[in-house]
Amino acid sequence: MTHSAPHLNFINGEWLAGYAMGPNRNPSHLAEVIAEYAQGDAAQVDAAVQAALAAFPAWSTSGIQSRSEALDKIGTEILARKEELGTLLSREEGKTKPEGIGEVTRAGQIFKFFAGECLRLAGEVLPSVRPGIGVEITREPIGVVGLITPWNFPIAIPAWKIAPALAFGNCVVLKPADLVPGSAWALAEIISRSGTPAGVFNLVMGRGSVIGDALVRHPGIAGISFTGSTGVGRRIAQACVESHKKVQLEMGGKNPQIILDDADLAQAVELSVQSAFYSTGQRCTASSRLIVTQGIYPRFVEAIKARMDGIKVGDALAAGTDVGPVVSQAQLEQDLSYVEIGKAEGAAVYAGGGRVACHTGSGNEGFFMAPTLFTDTTRGMRVNREEIFGPVASVIRVKDYEEALATANDTEFGLSAGIATTSLKYATHFKRHSQAGMVMVNLPTAGVDYHVPFGGRKASSYGPREQGRYAQEFFTMVKTAYTLA
Ligand code: NAP
Repeated sequence: MTHSAPHLNFINGEWLAGYAMGPNRNPSHLAEVIAEYAQGDAAQVDAAVQAALAAFPAWSTSGIQSRSEALDKIGTEILARKEELGTLLSREEGKTKPEGIGEVTRAGQIFKFFAGECLRLAGEVLPSVRPGIGVEITREPIGVVGLITPWNFPIAIPAWKIAPALAFGNCVVLKPADLVPGSAWALAEIISRSGTPAGVFNLVMGRGSVIGDALVRHPGIAGISFTGSTGVGRRIAQACVESHKKVQLEMGGKNPQIILDDADLAQAVELSVQSAFYSTGQRCTASSRLIVTQGIYPRFVEAIKARMDGIKVGDALAAGTDVGPVVSQAQLEQDLSYVEIGKAEGAAVYAGGGRVACHTGSGNEGFFMAPTLFTDTTRGMRVNREEIFGPVASVIRVKDYEEALATANDTEFGLSAGIATTSLKYATHFKRHSQAGMVMVNLPTAGVDYHVPFGGRKASSYGPREQGRYAQEFFTMVKTAYTLA
């Protein structure tokens, strides 16, 4: 039996009202409130952390079989309900239904993966440099972790933090993005029926400045895993260092996509369009700088314009939609303001540039924006340095591979970087010399596997990597034990 509305916070195994309820709105239909969700406060954060601390001794020493079974059960239910949960996700965040179902599928796969990983947590046994002594290195859970997540992946990001946290014996307080509480609440409801004891997993919804801040400052929290903007992440890191908390940050990007003269043109256009504009460009791994060498430049801009003309923008759930709405009024205003900033800097709007009506002609009032491409840009322009986080990309024309590489690396960010080329020499050189944490050859900068590490460099990431086997770096701590034989 699934638990239906009201959508309350989940603390110590109970559903509790906050101080108020807040609406979750559909960015495809501005008048539509999907449901109301509880708004918690600092006192509820404290109650959740105390419950998690009380649950930790038993959970952290519980058998790995029961943990594995709980994670597997969660993954099975997510996958079985992917159509329903994907629809909810698309309604609240605005990515298309196939993209929503894809994200839900990924969340289910992540729980299944960590159901296995918790059985494989290995240590090391070494001889001592002193005769007659044995040395063991083991990994232990870190304690109660605070997980703070952004709006653009409402179920996958909570999943890729919760699953390893629980797998390795930690207890959790999740604070999802206030803009999209629906998917996180549905996930919490599934976890509530998974057999995890009361207090092991807790959900507190509400504003970042209230709930997030209270989590970061709570003395009972051993570590914070945060995904969101670089500005908020930087402040969280400072607070965590002061209180000796472990911290893991995944933040913004300004991801480059290089297109060399020898690229397969059709492939280069398709992967650029996919990673720049699909999911409304609202992916930390989206390409926002298309760096094109001069020999292919005229053919590339002509072909990408033709491809962009065919993109259907509109209601996330409508059949045929390629690109859904921008998530919110504030994000739309930010995207449109960058169009003006680009124009003022001398960039040419080559495609898009403003709001559009839904392609179905239904007259829906949503935050729909045309995929927008600037040409005549230089690498120093603000539109090529600052994260816009919408369906807006620029083309930067360069002389050769060397200039393309220098331009790609000329950013404070370093999350994902791509190259389109048929040259093994340039592909190999780029894989080694790109300053990004993830490098793609003839693939979009967005689109990654769930069983390998995810993360960036420079201002895009801080602390240990997320996902795959590498997730244990953050969610466990090492102990070295010596035994006299
Ligand atoms: P955001 O504004 O930084 O918010 C992220 C989360 O932090 C939200 O839950 C937010 O709460 C919370 N928060 C806000 N202020 C806080 C504070 N003072 N203390 C503690 N928590 C606080 O980011 P966003 O707009 O949701 O997401 C977009 C950003 O995320 C982009 O920069 C994108 O690149 C980045 N991102 C990075 C990755 C990655 O893996 N590198 C993946 C996805 C997204 P509320 O919003 O609920 O108030």
